[in-house]
Amino acid sequence: MDAPSPTQQVDCLIIGSGPAGYTAAIYAARADMKPLMYQGLQPGGQLTITTDVENYPGYPTGTDGPKMMEDFLAQARRFGTEVHSGLATKVDFTGPIHKVWIDQTKLIEAKTVIIATGASAKWLGLESEQTYNGFGVSACAVCDGFFYRGQEVALVGGGDTAAEEATYLSKLCKKVTMIVRRDELRASKAMQHRVFNTPNIEVLFNTETLEITGEQTVSGVRIKNRISGEESSLAVTGFFVAIGHEPNSGIFKEWLDLNASGYINTVPGSSKTNIPGVFACGDVQDHIYRQAVTAAGSGCMAALDAERYIADFEMSKTDLGVNA
Ligand code: NAP
Repeated sequence: MDAPSPTQQVDCLIIGSGPAGYTAAIYAARADMKPLMYQGLQPGGQLTITTDVENYPGYPTGTDGPKMMEDFLAQARRFGTEVHSGLATKVDFTGPIHKVWIDQTKLIEAKTVIIATGASAKWLGLESEQTYNGFGVSACAVCDGFFYRGQEVALVGGGDTAAEEATYLSKLCKKVTMIVRRDELRASKAMQHRVFNTPNIEVLFNTETLEITGEQTVSGVRIKNRISGEESSLAVTGFFVAIGHEPNSGIFKEWLDLNASGYINTVPGSSKTNIPGVFACGDVQDHIYRQAVTAAGSGCMAALDAERYIADFEMSKTDLGVNA
C-alpha cells in the first residue's frame, strides 16, 4: 500500500475499524463516497480479542473474531474503501470542512466524519488476565457466556454491568461467583435484588483477585479477603471482567456532546452528533447493547446519514470548498 500524501481531502473519513466502522465503509463505498478509513490502535476492534463468535447472524457454524474482522475489511476494500493504519490524534470541527490529524502529522479535510472508535473494556491489570484473554478470560458475558454452559465461573465487578452479566451467566452456568472489592454492590437496587435472588450466584464481598491460574485455559482464580487477609482459590473455568468500559472519545470531548460516562450523544434514531457532518456509531455511542451486530447496524446508519448530509449540501449548492 502506498503511503498517503501529507494532506488529503475526502468526502467521508471513517475513524475506527470494528464492525461499525467497516459496515459504514461498505455502505459509504457503495454510495460512491470514496471513504478513507484510519483503523486506530487495534485494527478490527474488540472482536480481535475474542475467539469464537456464534451470535452474529449469517455464520451458522460460527466464526472467530479476528477472521470475521478480516472478512469485514476485505468487503470494505472490495468496494474501494482506502484503508490505512493510523490513529486520529486531534480534530477541529469548527468549519463545514472537518479537520482530523492522523498520528499528529497528517491532516485530513473531510466533508463528513464517521466516528467508530469503539470502547475498551477496563481490565484489572493482572498479567495472568492478559495471558488467558480469549482462553477463559473474557470481558463480555453475552459474547462468550455460551461457551461455559454447565460450568462454574467467576466474575469481577459490582456495578450494573457486573450484576447484569452475572444474571445472564447464571442462566447458562452451574454457578457464578461474583468477586466484589467493597462491602456493597454499586449496582442499582433493582439489579442487586435480582443478583441476591438468584440461587446460583454467590457474592464474595471485600474480595480482590490476586491471579488467574490454569494451563492452556483457565482452571481457577486466587482471591484474597481484604478484611481478614485470608487467601483462597476458586475452581472455575471462566473468568469474566465486568468493571466497566471506557468509550474511546477523548479527542472529541471539546467538540461533541458526551454523556456523563464519556459516550458520544447522538440524536435518537440516528447517528447525528451535535456537529453537522459528524456522525457516531458503534460502542463509542452505545453503552447499552454493545454487540457486533448492533454496532454494524449503527455503522450502516452513519453511512446513510453521511450520504444524505452530503446530498443536502450539494442540493443547497453550498460550496464546501473541497472538491465540491
Ligand atoms: P460502574 O458503575 O463504574 O461499576 C464498576 C464496578 O466495578 C464497581 O463495582 C467497581 O467497584 C468495580 N471495579 C472497578 N474497578 C475495579 C477493580 N480494579 N477491581 C475490582 N473491581 C473494580 O461500571 P458499569 O457497571 O459498567 O456501569 C457503567 C454505567 O452504565 C453505569 O452508569 C451503569 O448504571 C450503566 N449501566 C446500566 C445498565 C442498565 O441500566 N441495564 C447496565 C449496565 C450498565 P467500586 O464500586 O468499589 O468502585
